[in-house]
Amino acid sequence: MVTALPSILLRRCSLLQPSGQSSGQSLGQPSEGAETRPPVIDIAPVVDIAIEAGRIVAIAPNLECSAQLELDVQGQLVSPPFVESHIHLDSALTVGEPRWNQSGTLFEGIEIWRDRKQSLTLADVKQRAIATLKQQAMQGVLFVRSHADVSEHSLTALKGLLEVREAVKDWITLQVVAFPQDGIYGGVKNDALMEEAMKLGADVVGGIPHYELTREDGVRSIHRIFELAAQYDRLIDVHCDEIDDDQSRFLEVITANTIRSGMGSRVTASHTTAFHSYNNAYAFKLMGFLQRTNLNFIANPLINITLQGRADTYPKRRGVTRVKELWQQGQNVSLGHDCVQDPWYPLGTGNMLDVASMAVHICQMTGSAEIDACYDMVTWNGARTLHLEDQYGVEVGKPANLIVLDANSRYDAIRRRATVRYVIANGELIAHTESPKSQWKRGAA
Ligand SMILES: [Zn+2]
Repeated sequence: MVTALPSILLRRCSLLQPSGQSSGQSLGQPSEGAETRPPVIDIAPVVDIAIEAGRIVAIAPNLECSAQLELDVQGQLVSPPFVESHIHLDSALTVGEPRWNQSGTLFEGIEIWRDRKQSLTLADVKQRAIATLKQQAMQGVLFVRSHADVSEHSLTALKGLLEVREAVKDWITLQVVAFPQDGIYGGVKNDALMEEAMKLGADVVGGIPHYELTREDGVRSIHRIFELAAQYDRLIDVHCDEIDDDQSRFLEVITANTIRSGMGSRVTASHTTAFHSYNNAYAFKLMGFLQRTNLNFIANPLINITLQGRADTYPKRRGVTRVKELWQQGQNVSLGHDCVQDPWYPLGTGNMLDVASMAVHICQMTGSAEIDACYDMVTWNGARTLHLEDQYGVEVGKPANLIVLDANSRYDAIRRRATVRYVIANGELIAHTESPKSQWKRGAA
């Protein structure tokens, strides 16, 4: 029972349950009947949720108490917040500066960013990063992992994002990755800058082995990443094989290091788009090795469907990693934007339902369990990637982070890109959005 007066009481919530199958080990197998279930199955009994002092204090039908703020959500979906597992806040909102990426390629994007980052200031980074985070928070994102480019001697991007991490901590949890955009061995001082980034407090060690000058440098960079992570006790998240080259095989090096180091779920491989192009004999062998790890994968379907395949004529490869097969095998897969209005991707609004919807399409995950899985990839699976499971989820005793969606299921939320009506962060209502309403004006059809 609730003893103190709750600060917020949510009435009549359809509380979304974790599937308990965040991977597709059973649900992903059509032979087990997953495809025959109806799409609307993930609705719990309608409950009230009481929040006090930043935590969830009660969840039960018809709570007999009142609160300072009562919201009757009338049976709408209540979900833990969205998790943005991969974004670059330091470059967000710079599209067109100093010029537009006309070829649409990753490498022209890197060239443009190299020019733009010459004029970075702390104020510039912080202003754009906070604007992007607000945009995301208003759409239900309360946990974010951002990469920060640490290729510049000033480390302005990193320092800016570390200040942002502190400035926003009351309403959003931000992890910062030290990301060597130009390669750890692409410049003589880059390795030292990575180490400096660890000392300044980056949460995660990043990398970009496929963009190192040689394959050997790429392999060496991965060894160095694992060494830094062990030395400074940090997580790992590597931009890995983000290229259509079927010979880009750094994932196997990360897999081997993960097995040998025992770092397991502390390691994440982002993008792995070359995995799309591997021949199946090699891909299946690699899948076997992956089964020996708890390696996390992050796919960024919005950007990789536009960046990859640019050197192809026809047929054009989709260039998104093997999301469905990894999920079916039980690997933890989450999804990110990667970019919002920057030199690599001019679009994006920060809405994770756009990301999930794109994954449904590109990865051909239209089975009902598969659509549900894509929702989990922007919620629970993301929390697992970020190692935040202990504070994530709508459960009594946990921090009160939750969202109310104008939807009745995961499927409904993705199909209609449902409006996130209320966003509650650490027990505080931080955003309210009305669902758009259309009126038929023509009279009887
Ligand atoms: Zn990225």
